[in-house]
Amino acid sequence: MQFIESRGNDGIKKEAVSFSEAILDPSASYGGLYVPESLPDMSISFLSEYLMSDYKTLAYTILRAFDIDISDELIYQALDRYDEFDEPGNPVPVKKLKDDLFVSELYHGPTRAFKDMALQPFGVILSTLAKERDENYLIMAATSGDTGPATLETFKNRDNIKVACLYPDGGTSDVQRLQMVTEDAPNLKVIGVNGNFDDTQQALKTLLSSSDFKAELSRKNIHLSAANSVNFGRIIFQIIYHIYAYLELVRKGTITLGDEIYIVIPSGNFGNALGAYYAKKAGLPVKKILIASNVNNILTELINEGVYDIRERKLILTESPAMDILKSSNVERVLYDKFGAKRTNELMSELDNNGIYRLNENELKSLREDFDAIYSTDEEGEKVIAEFAKEGYIMDPHTATCLKAYKELRDDDTPTVIHSTAEWTKFSKTVAKALGIKAESDIEAMKEISSRMKIAIPNKIEELFSKDVIHNTVVNKDDIKKEMLEFLS
Ligand SMILES: *Cc1c(COP(=O)(O)O)cnc(C)c1O
Repeated sequence: MQFIESRGNDGIKKEAVSFSEAILDPSASYGGLYVPESLPDMSISFLSEYLMSDYKTLAYTILRAFDIDISDELIYQALDRYDEFDEPGNPVPVKKLKDDLFVSELYHGPTRAFKDMALQPFGVILSTLAKERDENYLIMAATSGDTGPATLETFKNRDNIKVACLYPDGGTSDVQRLQMVTEDAPNLKVIGVNGNFDDTQQALKTLLSSSDFKAELSRKNIHLSAANSVNFGRIIFQIIYHIYAYLELVRKGTITLGDEIYIVIPSGNFGNALGAYYAKKAGLPVKKILIASNVNNILTELINEGVYDIRERKLILTESPAMDILKSSNVERVLYDKFGAKRTNELMSELDNNGIYRLNENELKSLREDFDAIYSTDEEGEKVIAEFAKEGYIMDPHTATCLKAYKELRDDDTPTVIHSTAEWTKFSKTVAKALGIKAESDIEAMKEISSRMKIAIPNKIEELFSKDVIHNTVVNKDDIKKEMLEFLS
């Protein structure tokens, strides 16, 4: 299968590229994104054929259905990363919370957030392709806390790839920071930045557009790639678990093949939601995808009113920081799929130039056929955490935003799968607060929750607190370039 450009072709770049080209160089014409030129058919006959498959077999089959230019051997190697999850063979447990409510736990990988689902296999593929081509790549990430650890973890000690990760000093949880600064491999660099996540992101943009930095990269023959969800190499792995969760409900006898379900997704950059959308388009019986947000409710506004307006908005820091976002990149791929490249280019340039775009009535109607959306405040999220803790289930503050969608957006009691994107251990101070536990630090909060709720802290998390700190650089924005040049030399 070929990949084409969401904003059309500028006559300089190729009009269509292979999967491997799209992931090595994810930037398309006019600042657009690569999208698949079509989707495979994964409707009832496909679902019934693979009903009893294990996760890796299903994943292999879906990747093959996209007809990507990656060898079988490499696909198998990439999928073997799921063997390192808590339950090899069942990397994404789907658990029942109520008769019509299920949770798909996407956080059983090494860094305890759903980013591992895609980044673990993606890292194997990207670094192997780089090695085969004898090319060197630099991946730079600005992280608010989950992308950083997952990116470092997947690329550590891999050939032909260097990773530099910028995080806002003081802007992440202790666990998230320790996951980054204790990561010990010569191809990794972690830099704390004085400032908030916005400052960090801005600093990365400035660096990437600086001509002497670019000159240095080309002198060293280093290519830039990206490991965030603008890279289709991540999206493809985020289609699989939506199909798997559906098949789990069939296997449990909750639904029969062909019945519809609701999917609820705590959304930020819309990668997870896009995976669900592609699954639905490919034939998975999904009644609607319900988008949960926090008070940075730009997606709620878009899906309810058809307006994407960031003119007056300021990013608000919340207890679900991975969803603190104003420019949600993957919405663009839905726009492309529904309205085509010309209209997508028009809408995205309105956003870039004026900070706002408006869908027309028909476009909004089309969007609402697949999506509905709602947002929660931190206080509402804490109440949800407390309510489920009483039943013995601990969820993180991102997952907690899903419950309002479950309660308020459904037309009937169609079985619903919410997607849990992080383990509670990554946000233990917020969870402690929700449970009325006073704790000064993450470790104190975790231990208290663990003993009160009788749930274990995974070794990987507890060990972090006694590991050596490898990366202790914290700098002002202006000094990032110097640090980077040292790292590359
Ligand atoms: C990244 C992340 C999200 C948002 O996912 P998107 O695919 O960017 O919408 C939600 N929750 C957690 C915990 C995350 O790490």
